[in-house]
Amino acid sequence: MNATASESGVVDAVGKDLFIGGKWRPAAEGKTLPVYDPSTEQVLCEVADASPADGMEALDAAVAAQAAWAQHPPRERGEIMRRSYEIIMSRVDDLALLMTLEMGKPLAESRGEVAYAAEFFRWFAEEAVRIDGGYAVAPNGKGRFLIHRQPVGPSLLITPWNFPMAMGTRKLGPAIAAGCTSVIKPAAQTPLSMLALVGILAEAGLPDGVVNVLTTSNSGGVMEPLIRDGRARKLSFTGSTGVGRKLLEQCAEKVVNTSMELGGNAPFIVFDDADLDAAIEGAMLAKLRNIGEACTAANRFYVQRGVVDEFARRLTERMAAQPIGRGTEDGVVIGPLIDNAAIEKVTTLVTDAAERGAKVLTGGAGVDAPGHFYRPTVLTNVPQDSRIAHEEIFGPVAPINVFDTEDEAVAKANDTEYGLVSYLYTSDLNRALRVSEALEAGMIGLNQGIVSNPAAPFGGVKHSGIGREGGTVGIDEFLETKYIAIGLT
Ligand code: NAP
Repeated sequence: MNATASESGVVDAVGKDLFIGGKWRPAAEGKTLPVYDPSTEQVLCEVADASPADGMEALDAAVAAQAAWAQHPPRERGEIMRRSYEIIMSRVDDLALLMTLEMGKPLAESRGEVAYAAEFFRWFAEEAVRIDGGYAVAPNGKGRFLIHRQPVGPSLLITPWNFPMAMGTRKLGPAIAAGCTSVIKPAAQTPLSMLALVGILAEAGLPDGVVNVLTTSNSGGVMEPLIRDGRARKLSFTGSTGVGRKLLEQCAEKVVNTSMELGGNAPFIVFDDADLDAAIEGAMLAKLRNIGEACTAANRFYVQRGVVDEFARRLTERMAAQPIGRGTEDGVVIGPLIDNAAIEKVTTLVTDAAERGAKVLTGGAGVDAPGHFYRPTVLTNVPQDSRIAHEEIFGPVAPINVFDTEDEAVAKANDTEYGLVSYLYTSDLNRALRVSEALEAGMIGLNQGIVSNPAAPFGGVKHSGIGREGGTVGIDEFLETKYIAIGLT
């Protein structure tokens, strides 16, 4: 992709075919699937629609390339990613426009995601040369232990539509660094960012077959045979908990190693002693990043009685003032949701809460225009038994519930099957640490409304997932530990 700023230019510049064994080629049956702009509901372009047979060819290519890639010098694996990082950063504007067109988020946020995505390549370029091992004396003093770490093998990577590039690099980075080949399948709704990314990896010198990309309207039909085939030794999935459960079952048959980054239902707790300015800023970020369509989105606000009215008033003022529109327009903060189903889900959750006694302070409705827009919404007096307190909203809706004691806040926050991230605002250090330890979550935003960082371990507990992406542990998900017992004579 060259430095073109036009919408059609960035779409035209992306490969629309499958990328298998280092070659672009159409789906075997010649089928294509449409990619829509969610802000206009117009078709942007068509991309290849892979069949199960195409999928098997992609797996064949990954398997064929595995042995050589595992032997490829770690420094060179890292340098390919470093070059990819540089290329991505030199094309931030074009890649951001492409992302906004297919996913809807405002351009400023797309630029942020592109940079965040690139950062995973920079981070794992550095980690590729730090895969450690060990040598130890056995307890009996006679034997020796050699600990060797090897790539887990060909990997299947499945990513969602909400962060079309970063969820890909968060998997490809460690896979490439560890010496694993892969077949990656982006969501059918947002394939273009991934297709652009694989073009960049090839340009940066990635050998044929190391990364293979499948776009398909039949994700289950194409991926299940690959999972059940048994040659892929790893499945790394980011998406909903429901699909994750299904994939775990499929992996059980051949005992495929899994990493699961699943849904969230983040509580955002504000104590009376919090810096309220900071809490409001954090709330806006945790709620509206990605139009609320983030696994890390604050889903439930629990605010202590002494500040709940002021918090609700100030949050309402801020939420009501956010400009809604197409993500390509200047100043827009609230782009469209991904599709009609998303609008229907948000509408159902808000209606359910209102019927149970919640009060709508602002918003509470969609926008009567083309595109899937929903107004930023604040609800108060939201009962704990309402659906919105237990289900992912995935939209710009902030439900507020009051609490009196620390124990009550923790109990309400933990009253969910999910455990991805929790946000906590307090100026009391003892309370901050006590509550952080008591919250059932893989990540805590302590006086901070965003936790994502390529240098930190991202992941959840309970039904939010298994494993961690990013940080120094991210590469472990793609490595096996081999122990060599050495007998000395
Ligand atoms: P999704 O419906 O579970 O889809 C995720 C991916 O799985 C897509 O590529 C989808 O492809 C594919 N897929 C769907 N059914 C499949 C099947 N039977 N077999 C194989 N692949 C299948 O989730 P989503 O709606 O795209 O994404 C939103 C969800 O992702 C939310 O729950 C969010 O919390 C979660 N998420 C979690 C994290 C995290 O790090 N924990 C990060 C981002 C998002 P198609 O769409 O093309 O069918």
